[in-house]
Amino acid sequence: MNLKQTLLTFLENNLFLKNGTCPICGKVLFVTDRFLCHQCEDDLPRINNPTCVRCGRPIFDAARTICIPYAKLKLPFSSGYAYLNYADSGKKLVHAIKFSDRPHLGIWVGTQMGAAMVQCHWINDVDLIIPVPLHSNRQSERGYNQSEKIAQGIQKGLSQKMTKVPELSTRILIRSRDTPHQIGQGREERLRNLTGAFNVEHIESIQNKTILLVDDVLTTGATLAETSATLLEAGAAQVCIATLCAVAE
Ligand SMILES: [Zn+2]
Ligand SMILES: [Zn+2]
Repeated sequence: MNLKQTLLTFLENNLFLKNGTCPICGKVLFVTDRFLCHQCEDDLPRINNPTCVRCGRPIFDAARTICIPYAKLKLPFSSGYAYLNYADSGKKLVHAIKFSDRPHLGIWVGTQMGAAMVQCHWINDVDLIIPVPLHSNRQSERGYNQSEKIAQGIQKGLSQKMTKVPELSTRILIRSRDTPHQIGQGREERLRNLTGAFNVEHIESIQNKTILLVDDVLTTGATLAETSATLLEAGAAQVCIATLCAVAE
């Protein structure tokens, strides 16, 4: 190997990440860029306007504390946190975690969420973290559950700042029925399709517990409402939610 080749091999092995492109803009990533390029990381559409105290969704009237969907539909969450607006690069990020085989990106962004969530006044009440499950067929297709990766990150982020960190469980809430993709369905239809799609196992482990339910996106709230209702019916005391992205009211 001549010097030029040696140098190129060295650069390839040490300067560039393997498969290293930014999932948002496609730019080649350097080792120091981690999972997104610096520009895209800085530009993430972080939610910084007033948010709904129940679901974390951005609201546009500072006089209210709960969003219109929550008030209208009586969603069953006690408190909620959302990290990004479901728009622009927020959408691309979710897509990359879900469909581009980037489980570590999910953990990485979840860690940032967890670090931010220590500010939530309700976080110390949480006993258990549960990701919204995929049906086992869907999970084996994808290789992992994106909500579980985000939840792992949240737990890691919390552990950096809290002494007692809630346990994470994927064995309690089970998706027993595979439901069709929800794209293009109205809320009523989504809810109908989801009714009875989830089961609780090890029911004793959630009695009177406060559960943090984690999902990738909060849109109509149908999936989170159905999973929360399932947990509450099975004996949980309350359900809080955390989502990577939320659609504004
Ligand atoms: Zn980028
Ligand atoms: Zn809300």
